[in-house]
Amino acid sequence: MSLPAGSTIGIIGGGQLGRMLAMAAARLGYRTVVLEPQADCPAAQVANRQITAAYDDPAALAELAAVSAVVTYEFENVPVAAAEALAARVPVYPPVRALDVAQDRVGEKKFLNGIGIATADFRSVDTDDDLTAALKAFGGSGILKTRRMGYDGKGQRVFRKMEAGGFAGTCEAMGNVPLILESFVPFEREISVIAARGLDGAVTAYDPAENVHRNGILHTSTLPAAINSKTADAARAAAGKILSALDYVGVIGVEFFVLADGSLLANEIAPRVHNSGHWTEAACTISQFEQHIRAVAGLPLGSPGRHSDCVMENLIGDDVLRGPALLAEPDLILHLYGKAEARPGRKMGHFTRISRRP
Ligand code: AMP
Repeated sequence: MSLPAGSTIGIIGGGQLGRMLAMAAARLGYRTVVLEPQADCPAAQVANRQITAAYDDPAALAELAAVSAVVTYEFENVPVAAAEALAARVPVYPPVRALDVAQDRVGEKKFLNGIGIATADFRSVDTDDDLTAALKAFGGSGILKTRRMGYDGKGQRVFRKMEAGGFAGTCEAMGNVPLILESFVPFEREISVIAARGLDGAVTAYDPAENVHRNGILHTSTLPAAINSKTADAARAAAGKILSALDYVGVIGVEFFVLADGSLLANEIAPRVHNSGHWTEAACTISQFEQHIRAVAGLPLGSPGRHSDCVMENLIGDDVLRGPALLAEPDLILHLYGKAEARPGRKMGHFTRISRRP
């Protein structure tokens, strides 16, 4: 059964993804309530209401459940216990298991490998000795990451060779938290697939985007990606497998490394709308945001078809000052997030430049 227009969708998280979800929900006739501790957040500026409280505040969660017909979220670090408490009272999509899998890089890779999706080799690292042993196993190179709460390249350290003097103090410098060492992947390019699964089990995927990162933050997503159709199909198929295995409802982002022979290694999954899918609002009839709202509301999914080639670029920090000049271009969509302060490294907006097909 689909949600009647006028129903309220709860959104946990008040950033730009929540903002764009709230806008898509409004167009389909829904109301939105955002749970976010920071007042006047980007999502609350366009939603019907904000509950200003911590994501795990029991009273706030009870209120969110009481006013929402369904609850979704815009970031993967929603506390699992909070999502479970909500799910006992109101449908929560994507399912809590997707959060659980995506929150721990080790669990995520085990899950992916378990359903036949290849990833970089990895080892859990809890001590400097673990790190030494893992680096030896990987020929001296690898990327050390925090298992939890890492994003945009934060909490990562690259090793290119065994270092004289060993690795004493590394775990402490990383905050004495559980770590993972991944083997260094000599990728040719990075791509991502934005896919969706409806309440009825229907699965659909957008064309893979080719992504370039700068300082660990997504810089551009380009469509089409410079990959052959076999690689594109493999990426879509892997995303579909993940969605089915998780009995998923909603949009997911799956990032892959493409190797020289065109084969893929999955890097990570994001159980939410994704920065590398922002291009869909400009180059597709149905954006990832509308697709997600359709899925969680039990509506039919729309076509993921792309009517134009395009490049999406993030506006980080002071880049946002380029906005007015960019708007002088005729085939460009600018999207600003309503953040007051343009701090370095902060995502302030994005634009998508489309090139029409003849
Ligand atoms: P992540 O936070 O896992 O998305 O990593 C951020 C970026 O670091 C990725 O987009 C890659 O450019 C790079 N990276 C991450 N893991 C690896 C790896 N195992 N091998 C090579 N590059 C990586």
